[in-house]
Amino acid sequence: MNTPESRYAFFEGKIVPIEQAKVSVMTHALNYGTGAFSGLRGYWNPDHRELYVFRPIDHFERLTNSAKLLLIDMPYTPEQLRDIVIDLLLHEGFREDVYIRPLVYKSELGIGVKLHGLKADFTMFALPFGRYLEHDDGLSVCTSSWRRVDDTAIPARGKISGAYANSALIKSEAAMAGFDDAIVLNQDGHVSEACAANLFMFRKGKIVTPPVSANILEGITRQTLFTLFAEEMGMQVVEREIDRTELYSADEVFMCGTGVQISAVTSVDHRPIGTGKLGPVVAKMRTLYNEVVRGNLPRYYSWLQPVFACEEVYAD
Ligand code: PMP
Repeated sequence: MNTPESRYAFFEGKIVPIEQAKVSVMTHALNYGTGAFSGLRGYWNPDHRELYVFRPIDHFERLTNSAKLLLIDMPYTPEQLRDIVIDLLLHEGFREDVYIRPLVYKSELGIGVKLHGLKADFTMFALPFGRYLEHDDGLSVCTSSWRRVDDTAIPARGKISGAYANSALIKSEAAMAGFDDAIVLNQDGHVSEACAANLFMFRKGKIVTPPVSANILEGITRQTLFTLFAEEMGMQVVEREIDRTELYSADEVFMCGTGVQISAVTSVDHRPIGTGKLGPVVAKMRTLYNEVVRGNLPRYYSWLQPVFACEEVYAD
């Protein structure tokens, strides 16, 4: 786990020292998982002396939709939330890669399982953050014995706190069996995604990923790769169902997400994928993605929110 190194949090409408950002044990979301969250990254570019937050508006639009599933009206617009991120990061002053966690949650105190008629609050904190998975150029994964939460149970397209008990079951089963991560199938037995990342394969010359109806989280990184594969490599990503055993005969498999970034999967259920080593398509995309998120490719600047460039505006 990353130990908190944050000094501040946005809590109950303002930025406060992190020690003051506390909730009661009676908080509804703590008891029932009735929150929705997101995870963003900020990338430090030492040459630009700038910290770039990746696709904040897209993250906050998804957060707003996740909140809606829980009958929560977001108290801030995506643009206001982006401003809060900037303000928070300016307070922290991190000059390194960071992870940002916004969370909207049912803050009502007391007992009673329901969604309607409960007050909600919003909080956000950030912390320095490097690599999420240790072997991200060659992960060994298994297929989980757990199934992905279903749209008819807890909607997977929402990033809902309670649903992450499902992800935690998947992750721990895999880790305790010696794997780096797991592939999880949906209720009809097709590949959904990894534990906290979307999944892609390169097979027969095509890049393929499960569709949004496969109980995936609609990842911002996944969407980014659609653009980068098309624009930079001339490949249209195909969205279709994937069978578990198709992965065994894929040339390359990889997962993507804000945390894992682009991580190569080189073994599934003890079967080597392709050569069993980092493949050329994933290698190329990893390099490209790193250039994009760090602000080294000006044509993708519109995805980046610089933090320190806003210093003067916020100092007023
Ligand atoms: N699926 C799950 C279950 C996740 O938790 C994440 C991480 N947010 C992803 C996919 C990838 O989404 P994104 O690219 O937006 O980080």
